[in-house]
This record gives sequence, structure tokens and C-alpha cells, in this order.
Amino acid sequence: MNKEKYLVTSALPYANGPIHFGHIAGAYLPADIYVRFQRMRGVDIIYICGTDEHGVAITISAEKEGATPQAHVDKYYKVIKNIFDNFNIKFDNFSRTSLSHHYKLSQEFFTDLYNNGYVKASLTNQLYCKKCNRFLADRYVMGICPACGHSAARGDECGKCGKWLEAMELVEPRCKVCMEKPEVRETKHWFLQLQLLSKKLMNWLNSHKEWKENVKNFIGNMIKGGLEERPITRDLDWGVPVPLTDAEGKVLYVWFDAPIGYISSTMEWAEKQGKPDMWKDYWYDKNCRLVHFIGKDNISFHCVVWPAMIIGQNKPLILPWNVPANEFYNLEGKQFSKSEGWYISLDDFFQKYQTDVIRYTIISNSPENRDTEFTWKDFQSRNNDHLADTYGNLVHRIFTFIEKYFDGLIPKPENLSSVDLAMLEEIKKTPEIIEECLLNFKNRQASHELMELARKGNRYYNDKAPWKSRKENLQDCGNTMYVCAKLLQVLSVLTYPFMPSTAEKLWSMLGYSSKIQEERWLKIAEKELKAGQKLDKPEILFAKIDDKIIEGEIERMKEEFAKIQKEKEKPPVEYTPLKETISYDDFARLDFRVARVISAEAVPKSKKLIKLIIDLGFEERQIVAGIALHYKPEELIGKHLIVVANLAPTKLMNVESNGMLLASTIGDKLTILTIDKAIDPGALVS
Ligand SMILES: [Zn+2]
Ligand SMILES: [Zn+2]
Repeated sequence: MNKEKYLVTSALPYANGPIHFGHIAGAYLPADIYVRFQRMRGVDIIYICGTDEHGVAITISAEKEGATPQAHVDKYYKVIKNIFDNFNIKFDNFSRTSLSHHYKLSQEFFTDLYNNGYVKASLTNQLYCKKCNRFLADRYVMGICPACGHSAARGDECGKCGKWLEAMELVEPRCKVCMEKPEVRETKHWFLQLQLLSKKLMNWLNSHKEWKENVKNFIGNMIKGGLEERPITRDLDWGVPVPLTDAEGKVLYVWFDAPIGYISSTMEWAEKQGKPDMWKDYWYDKNCRLVHFIGKDNISFHCVVWPAMIIGQNKPLILPWNVPANEFYNLEGKQFSKSEGWYISLDDFFQKYQTDVIRYTIISNSPENRDTEFTWKDFQSRNNDHLADTYGNLVHRIFTFIEKYFDGLIPKPENLSSVDLAMLEEIKKTPEIIEECLLNFKNRQASHELMELARKGNRYYNDKAPWKSRKENLQDCGNTMYVCAKLLQVLSVLTYPFMPSTAEKLWSMLGYSSKIQEERWLKIAEKELKAGQKLDKPEILFAKIDDKIIEGEIERMKEEFAKIQKEKEKPPVEYTPLKETISYDDFARLDFRVARVISAEAVPKSKKLIKLIIDLGFEERQIVAGIALHYKPEELIGKHLIVVANLAPTKLMNVESNGMLLASTIGDKLTILTIDKAIDPGALVS
């Protein structure tokens, strides 16, 4: 067994929506490949992840959906887990940060940092809602944008002009929950003193000259600007409570507790192994290599803030050994964005296409040192040209030839020619070449080398022309097919990290019943290939994808985008200002009743008006309502409405109206008011 030990993590996905190819390309697929490959090198390695489940974005989404934050994250934990399963991303543990042992560990981090003088309190001014009895986190405030005058700007950003805001900057701020005007109060928050840790941080960072250039450049720029204290607490009732007596109603900022999730997830893993302390074998072992796979938007946290937190606390935790951050992976020229309508529906995708094809498409164009993108045409060409015509074709022609002319038995090699020996030498070198790439996080190059081996196989097959030698020199033909089978044996093992299902299929087609992942990376070239080994019937590994299908996908994507953009062009909702306060007596003068609609018809020559005959129990009446743009007359018959029954009669388009039905409107939406449970017409509403 190789003595190296690794702890691999991928950025914790935020449990507030599904993830897309961009995330997969940045933090998950590269890690999954790395772990599968390292396991075949025989090292001790575990792969840890989980969902990040705190923060204001989650509480706000939950409120919008009328769910609790817990129900909201429960839902997205499942959604996200399912997407990883579809991509065949195999974690050793996939945890979540809303678990109690994560709370405890996060609080221990805070307490250590606080006691060691790296966390300090400061008084700040903040908006407080007296009605809700709480300080308002920025997104819980709305008001008028000081820049553009938009009436419903958010406390952190104006949705109309895009300006980043502080809640205190808003003109006429209001509490988003109760619409009450908040007041300014002084409150205490806690700040991580990054500047006190910068020297130790620099020493550590300087010991990692081997990191990727994009990562080193980013950190260099960040530290050059000088490190400052950062707030680590917020006013919220969802999250890890700040473990201090004078911190009621405050929780740890989501970015503070999220990376601690790597440790709490490892703890959960150890617990599941029946060895609760086993997480320390990784986190406390100075020889264990901690590798964080992330996207570039996460570099500052993983290379500066998180290591600073580790340095400042008391447990003997290891620091990251490498942080191979990737650039962005976009979709046809733009960032993936479901809210913008620029996305691919993954449910649909995985029903139609093979997991290994998308894994290969992403990794062979992986955003390692620059942004790259998914395009449908590229997906098609990698499937058709690389996987079907090169890889799949090689497998297919070798299998069918051996089946047809050697009864499916691998021929016995004798007196190999120099061409055969040269090919065997190429085969033997490939595991080392790919190993070198993967150890240096060059997955894209590694996948090219893999495909290159398949190309060499096709060339060798063409050059040796076994269909000719079969008639002229049967031994040479047998030698060729033996070398080809040897190539497939090695190719299948090298394929495993990239396309695990394909590798398993090919391995079993070659007649093996053992598990392919138990093979050792550098030993595979030396593994004996037995003459006489019976091959299985060949299967088509990759079907070609038609132009028509790809054109359909592109069209659908563009249509969806156009649809969402059109919806977005509608102006944002403007709320009608509240009317002046009235007394109860004013209100009590209005007589509201339940009424049943007996008949309804459009008022001639009017676009908006409908004439209704209603039953008030004690009498029938005619009223006119301006709802024809939203309801057809026949939809209304039999409905129970709420009407103002003591309104003076009036005429609309010369039709008499003896009352008014109640309806609710916002923007261009309208709905009539009706009743929750059956009650007789004429019933009083108050
Ligand atoms: Zn409020
Ligand atoms: Zn604005």
C-alpha cells in the first residue's frame, strides 16, 4: 500500500437551488476523478462534502415559498444529492451543516478564536423593527434606492439599477416582513481580526509555490491590498448561534461556519464507520494532504480566511495542502443561470444522454486556467468524433474481429514484430503519462492522453491490417489482435477515473469478473493478459447523436431564455402606498356580505365590465364589475363573492350597479375574493 494519505473536499454546494454543469466542472468532477485515480494508486484517501444550509438567502427563499428554512434545505439537500448521483460523483460522505454536531464544532471554533484575541466585538448602527422585535439583516430591509429612486430596492442591492447598497443608505427604509418603519439602534457584532493573522498566513502561503498560477495570483492581489477585519455575526434566527451571553439573536455568518462543514462531515463519516475518532486520523495528521477543490469565486475563503481560522483556533488541524481552483465553465457564451433562463434541465438531460459522455465533455474542456464553456455542438462532436468514432469504434472493431476469426478467444502472441513491440511500449508508457497529469491537476491533458491511446490503437490496427494478414500470415494477425486486446485492457483501467461506467463495461467485456477499481494504476501494463481468455459479446459503448437532436436542444434553450427575458422586461412591482389611518367606526360603517353569483354576462361594447345578478339571501341584485380581462362570465356563475352591500347605486356604461365586489390587484394581476368554507349568501363579513 502506498503510504500517502489524502483528505479531499469539494466546495459545499448551497442548499438554495439546484446545481449545474458550471459547478460540476469547477469543484466536483475534477475531485471525483482525482479520488478515483488516487485510490487506484493505492493511497489512503477519503472524499468529503455536504450542503451549506445557512444564510439569509435561504431564509428569504424559504419565506417566499411559505416553508421553514429547515424544510427548504431538506428539499434542496435531496435535489443536489440526486444531481451528484446522476453525474456518478461518489463522496465517502455527503453531510449537511444544519446538523447539531456541526453547530457544536462551529461554536468551538468561534470560542477559540475569541479567547485567543482573534475575534473582537464592535458597536455598529443597524435598523431595528419594533414590531418584529429584531434587528434586520440587510436583505430584510426594503426602501427607495438612493441612486435611481426605485421604490422597492433591497437592503443589499437595488434590483433595478444594480447598485450595491447598505441597508442604512435606503431612503424611507421598511421592514420587509411587516412593512413597518424601522429605527436605528446600536448593536454589537463580532469581527475576525484577519490582519492579526496575516504574518502567519504569509509564511504558510509562501511554502506553497507549487500551487496553480491562477490561485497564487489571486491570493497575491488580495494580500497586497492588506487584510482587514471581517464581520462574522449576523442578526438572524437561522444558523449557528453565537456562543456568548450578550449575543442573543445573533448567528455566525454563513461563510464562517460553511468550511467547518468539511470537518463535521468527516466526523459524521467516522461515526458511520463505527470509529468516532477516526476523523482525527486525517485532520490531525501532519502528513495528510488536505486538498480543497473549488471554483475561482471561492479562492479568498479557502486560501486566506479559512486557513486564518484554522491558524487562530486550538485544535491541531492541518492546513490545506493544495487548492486547485478552477475558472468558470459557462453555457454557450454566458454564465449558467436558471433565473435568467440560460440553463439546461438536468432531469431531462440525464434521461437522454449518458453520464460518461457529459463527464468526458466537461473534463476534456475543463476550465483549468481559463474560462471554458459547454456548447451543444461541442458535446455532439466529443460524443460522435471522440467517443463513438475513436474510442467506441476501436473497441468494436477489435471485439468483432476476435469474435469472428478467433472464436472470441484472445490469440496467443508469438515472435512479435518491431511494430507490435513499439505499440506495446506505447501502451506501457501511457499510465505514467496520465499519472503525471492527474497528480498535477491537469485533468484536461490527462483526458487527451487517454483519447490519444485510442487513436494510436486505431492507427496500429489500420497499419497492421489484420483482415489481410488473416489470409497471408495468421500468426501475425493473431499477434496484432493480442496487442489490440492488451491495449483495451490498459485503456479500460485508465478510463475508470474519467468514465467509470464505460470502464466497468469494457472490463467485463474483456472477460474479467473482478472489480476494475481494484486494479493498480502503474501495474496494469504489467498485468498478464491470458491467451485464450474468452471475450464477451461486443456492445456499442457510445451511440452517435444526430444533428437534428442537437439543433432541437439549441432551439429549446434559446426559446426558454427568450421567454424568461420577456417576463423580466415587465417593470418591477410597485406597491400602492398605505392609506391614512381610519377609526374602527369608519370601518364599521361599511356593510360587507357574502353573495352567490346567479348569472353573469359581458356588458356590450365594454372590454372590462361584467354584469352580475347576485343572491344576497334576503334579495337579488344587479352589480357591475371591471373584471372581464381576468374572468370569463361563465367562470363566475355559482361562485361566492364578498360585496360591499351598502354602497350608493351608480351607473357604469349606463348599466346600473347596486354594490361592489371585492378583488385584490397588484401590477396587472387580479383575483376576486371568495370564501374559505361554505356559508349562506347574505352572511355578514367583518
Ligand atoms: Zn417588521
Ligand atoms: Zn437603484
